[in-house]
Amino acid sequence: MARGKFLRLFIGNMASGKTRHLLTEIDTLRRYGNKRIAVFKPRTDTRSGASCIKSRKGDEDAAEDISATSPSEMFAILRAKEAAAGCRYEVIAFDEVQFFPRDSGFFQIVKHLLDHGYDVLASGLAFDFRGEPFGSTPDLTVLAEDRCMWLTAYCTKCGARAPFPQRIIDGEPAPYDSPQILVGGDETYEPRCEEHFVLPGRPLTGH
Ligand SMILES: [Zn+2]
Repeated sequence: MARGKFLRLFIGNMASGKTRHLLTEIDTLRRYGNKRIAVFKPRTDTRSGASCIKSRKGDEDAAEDISATSPSEMFAILRAKEAAAGCRYEVIAFDEVQFFPRDSGFFQIVKHLLDHGYDVLASGLAFDFRGEPFGSTPDLTVLAEDRCMWLTAYCTKCGARAPFPQRIIDGEPAPYDSPQILVGGDETYEPRCEEHFVLPGRPLTGH
């Protein structure tokens, strides 16, 4: 069995082109590398609707929804796909990996895939709305090594580099103590730089 496979991670803020880069990589590997690729995404991502991933530019690809808290269910789906195809898949892709919590076992799943000869592609938000590391994304950086591509977003207020997603609820910056993930909420997000990132009630700074 082939070993020493690699993880390529697209990491950054919202609106930085993470999913677009993931889709480009999938398309290139499939079209020119003749690779069989299984694409998965956590079920909590409602932006794209069911069973596809979609960039802001409009590119999309079919994806299997899996539980964010029990991502190991991807193995059964993968086995079924391989049985139907009569051969192994070569590449496994995951979008929005920040929605897999650190205690979901996602890190070990990716490690297992790599150890068993699969290449893995992933994209994920680096920081949550609090400006803190988000879910499994940071954990994957240690597996991706130098195949970790940081994508830059730009501040909606000033055009500077914008590492943070600003959460806005009813036109106001969301406070630090609102939940990390809001499902079906009325919040919006926009990329902000260090200066224009506003977080009422943030510990240590208090502004
Ligand atoms: Zn700014």
